[in-house]
Amino acid sequence: MSTEITTDVVVIGAGPCGLFAAFELGLLDVKCHFIDILDRPGGQCAELYPEKPIYDIPGFPVITGQQLTDNLMAQIAPFEPEFHFSRMVNSIEKLDDGSFRLETDADEIFHAKVVVIAAGGGSFQPKRPPVEGIEQYENKSVFYAVRRMEDFRDQDVVIVGGGDSALDWTLSLEPIARTLTLVHRRDAFKAAPASVNKMKELVAEGKISFQLGQIARLEGTDGQIDHVHLATAAGDLAIPATRLLPFFGLTMKLGPVADWGLELNDNTIVVDTEKFETSVPGIFAIGDINYYPGKLKLILSGFHEAALMAQAAKRIVSPGERVVFQYTTSSTKLQKKLGVV
Ligand code: FAD
Repeated sequence: MSTEITTDVVVIGAGPCGLFAAFELGLLDVKCHFIDILDRPGGQCAELYPEKPIYDIPGFPVITGQQLTDNLMAQIAPFEPEFHFSRMVNSIEKLDDGSFRLETDADEIFHAKVVVIAAGGGSFQPKRPPVEGIEQYENKSVFYAVRRMEDFRDQDVVIVGGGDSALDWTLSLEPIARTLTLVHRRDAFKAAPASVNKMKELVAEGKISFQLGQIARLEGTDGQIDHVHLATAAGDLAIPATRLLPFFGLTMKLGPVADWGLELNDNTIVVDTEKFETSVPGIFAIGDINYYPGKLKLILSGFHEAALMAQAAKRIVSPGERVVFQYTTSSTKLQKKLGVV
């Protein structure tokens, strides 16, 4: 049975612009839930350039993609937004009462008064490893993201890759998997050094295995794998496996956003510049995904768009309630919401 969640606002995309929207909405007492395909917040900043310096965030002469994400997460924490990672919003439907029904590919239904699309360049989609016939196992025993850790309990898990996702999931699934083997084509990793060190400790303690090699073929029946075959320096190596998690990186595609019936301009969503509302009232678009004359795909543009969007969203969520403009510096009310007084 589908899980149903009701909230004021659903924000599609937890990139920097979506995250800041939670701050602006929070100041106005509007609750929001995030849905993102990735397994962590930060969008392009966290996924494409976590350690690169950004020099044009106002007030920060230099800040890395990950630091900006961490700061935004700290800034919105007082408003307790809820995050639903590793799932994609497939459809948005406007209901007769003006509210929205959204469906994810994780069998969830969200009901919201307002939808904010902060989907950036579109969906990050996993790169499929070049293994013949892998499609027949996908979403049965081969997964490109971990939706529910319980699905991996007492399983023989093989994780392939050398980046943050591969290493993070190796560390997270080790306590619950029956066996866990990390496979990478070389003995050098792109992941955070602390995760690599921890993984090496687990290998030394015999809690997990590490294998150099490349995934060559899968063996199994009816979508259920039983062995992953690796091409190694010593030849073919068959590892008993009931779950395979290949982390081969991500590509960006517009994805389902194109099918939501919104006015588009060259793969971006047309919005007004007063409220950043789309051609469907109640659906807003901020950040890289939107289009208006003069648009600059910069993080700071998305921050401004989030502030104006929030004012308009508040009027939909709480019709008739007066929206008072206040400064965080001088408003005790706002400071109370932020938990600083
Ligand atoms: P994104 O960061 O793209 O986040 C969008 C999120 O939406 C993603 O996490 C995605 O998974 C999710 N999503 C999409 N579709 C769906 C769906 N259907 N369901 C669920 N989730 C979905 N900008 C600057 O201002 N200064 C810089 O110096 C700078 N340097 C950059 C360097 C590089 C290498 C790159 C690649 C970009 C740089 N940018 C820079 C651009 C900046 O990263 C983007 O402007 C910014 O990330 C846009 O933020 P966003 O929140 O709109 O979208």
